[in-house]
Amino acid sequence: MKLLRYGPRGQEKPGLLDRNGKIRDLSGKIGDLGPASLAPAALDALRKLDPESLPLVSGTPRIGPCVADVPKLVCVGLNYRDHAAESGMALPPEPVLFLKATTSINGPNDDVILPKGATKGDWEVELGIVIGTKAQYVAEKDALKYVAGYCIVNDVSERNFQLERAGQWTKGKSCDTFAPIGPWLVTADEVPDPQNLDLLCEVGGETMQKGSTRNMIFTCATIVSYASHFMTLQPGDIIPTGTPAGVGLGRKRFLKPGEEMHLAVTGLGEQRQRVLAWG
Ligand code: ZN
Repeated sequence: MKLLRYGPRGQEKPGLLDRNGKIRDLSGKIGDLGPASLAPAALDALRKLDPESLPLVSGTPRIGPCVADVPKLVCVGLNYRDHAAESGMALPPEPVLFLKATTSINGPNDDVILPKGATKGDWEVELGIVIGTKAQYVAEKDALKYVAGYCIVNDVSERNFQLERAGQWTKGKSCDTFAPIGPWLVTADEVPDPQNLDLLCEVGGETMQKGSTRNMIFTCATIVSYASHFMTLQPGDIIPTGTPAGVGLGRKRFLKPGEEMHLAVTGLGEQRQRVLAWG
């Protein structure tokens, strides 16, 4: 299933993409597409619905972030060899985890606002893991059973705030609008191999990132298991799994107001964001 949320910011309704690419309204079936609706039994109940029986949504509404009330964003840094190299950083001996404030969450096609004082806004196309079942001390072989599905995340970053302003990475990752998520939550049954997805990011019409999740240093299963040994993963948590090479940090070329970012991941849809300056 491809699940999504549509409508004005803060008033999104849950929806399902039918086989013709039309949005079907799920608001008569679930309150929202949040932590409670991501449990395996809740997803099975949605799977039993006949999409044709759900109201068709007319027009082309705004698409919101595909998960409501995300408890936390647990990101993986430096998870592709080529990206670690372009960042001038050593390959991590175990996954690098950092948190990104949930107030950064944005719809997949909403404007990205460069914050006050930004000089090095940057893009990062990533595969996002959406947790469906509470996970604590999960073995790697069982880890993917805790995953509800996958979505695209643009882990937008401000490199000056991230790397040149002291402390760790949170400041450069958490600005409002810095986490476009969606358009769809694609349930795990439709992503049989999360380690074989192509990732693309274009900025201003130029291809910047072209990678594959095959080249991750730590796989999705490793990441879910690993993270669950340091914190409880909750339904609705999203784990952006790192980005391949081609970011602005490596190119010494950063986001400019007025540019458009275009991101795509195999089977997960695409995102388009206009870049604006604060104020
Ligand atoms: Zn990232």
